[in-house]
Amino acid sequence: MFLSKSKYCEIHQCPKTAWLRKHKPEEFISDDNTLMRMENGNEVGDLAMGIFGDYCEVTAYDDTGKNLDLTKMVKATKKELSKGTPVICEASFEYNGLYCAVDILRAQNGGWAIYEVKSSTHVKPVYIADISYQKYVLEKSGINVTGTYLININSSYVFNGKLKLHELFSINDVSKAVAAEITNVPANIAAAEAIIHNETEPELPLTESCRDPYKCGFWQYCTRALPKPCVFDLYRMSSSKKFDYYNNGLISYEDLLSKGNVKNKHQLRQMQFEISKTQEPFVDKKGVEDFLNTLSYPIYFLDFESMQPIIPQFIGTRPYAQITFQYSLHYIEKEGGELMHKEFLAESGTDPRRELALRLCRDIPKDVCVTAYNKSFECGRIKELAETFPDLAEHLMNIHDNIHDLLVPFQSGYYYNRAMGGSYSIKSVLPALFPDEPTLDYHNLEGVHNGSEAMSIFPLIAKMPADQREKARNNLLKYCELDTYAMVKVWEKLKESIK
Ligand code: SF4
Repeated sequence: MFLSKSKYCEIHQCPKTAWLRKHKPEEFISDDNTLMRMENGNEVGDLAMGIFGDYCEVTAYDDTGKNLDLTKMVKATKKELSKGTPVICEASFEYNGLYCAVDILRAQNGGWAIYEVKSSTHVKPVYIADISYQKYVLEKSGINVTGTYLININSSYVFNGKLKLHELFSINDVSKAVAAEITNVPANIAAAEAIIHNETEPELPLTESCRDPYKCGFWQYCTRALPKPCVFDLYRMSSSKKFDYYNNGLISYEDLLSKGNVKNKHQLRQMQFEISKTQEPFVDKKGVEDFLNTLSYPIYFLDFESMQPIIPQFIGTRPYAQITFQYSLHYIEKEGGELMHKEFLAESGTDPRRELALRLCRDIPKDVCVTAYNKSFECGRIKELAETFPDLAEHLMNIHDNIHDLLVPFQSGYYYNRAMGGSYSIKSVLPALFPDEPTLDYHNLEGVHNGSEAMSIFPLIAKMPADQREKARNNLLKYCELDTYAMVKVWEKLKESIK
């Protein structure tokens, strides 16, 4: 086998990816989001198998139990086809080194229809390429393909307590688009074969698809020769604008400053600061002071953790809705007062929303100054809670209306430190402001080091044995507590910077 459908799609998006996977796999950097997307995709795929009622799944593993046994799967598919099984999941085919497993193969009009399942909410060109490749392999294997469909998530579905697969999923007939695309498949396969077997690395320019919809795992490798820092390190600039500059040869900060016609004062300041090589942070004292003057005692520091289940679990929620399950809250009553802490972590496996909203109203009085880092997230979640629980809406919206954004001094360029590397996320700002402070280092936490890990671990806790459950809960509490403690330290640092 030389080509699977995932490899074919990868080559369709960027031929270099497939070459690098074969020749330089060690250069691939997988992030937590990649793993989470894969897990989510598997969950959706498993659920969709039941959309047409009873089915036969031909998935088979080798003796290690870890790797798929493709030969066994192809054999099992032949057996089910000959028996006339009406719905076969993971139906597998091999033709001349081309391999594919069809998510759902369903008997239709004297032939077989291909159903490809995706966890996204809309049709993307790469899905059409994927289905066209499958149709090509099946037809070459002697199957009469009578339909091609994409099953994806219906974003307007609202869960009412009983999951309805036919409403959760939408089935799109993509036959027309596949008919247009399938003529390209033989040439694409030939090109893919040439690329994979070539010893020389293909020379391809960076394009927006390197970062959209996801940052490619080979991004670091493919940009290794670019000047550091470069146009891709600028913040507050759209990806398409960065690629415009890149495509016009304006890559280094020197190029951009002399010929880039950049008008944004924060970007100009960022570039000038980087080029100056100064080690001292840049502080616009007036800007920082004006921001600090918007805050008052008692001051609260709030951070939420949420999950985003594709398959809705709680009444009234849609696919991909943000469900807040945890918060940490540090607060100081008066100038020079003691730093206090409160927190909430829901029971995994239960609907956390009502309990969290009640606790939040109990822990944050009305009319106090609340800070969040990148407040649009916390504000958005509080607004949703207020809409869900009208009896708490007045208090929740009072909290919402009093939230100040601790991101402002960094995003506005009032405070810039070289070590922030052009990013103003708390995960970049904190180590830049406190490089030698182990208690503020997320790497020193156990089990949970970022929001993606928190999001993945929380739903799993319900299925863990008691001893592991306690540990996982503790790890989540420590992680979220560090988020708000970090905010307190950042606020203190800003105050110091204007003395
Ligand atoms: S970074 Fe871009 S050019 Fe490099 S392999 Fe990924 S998609 Fe292709």
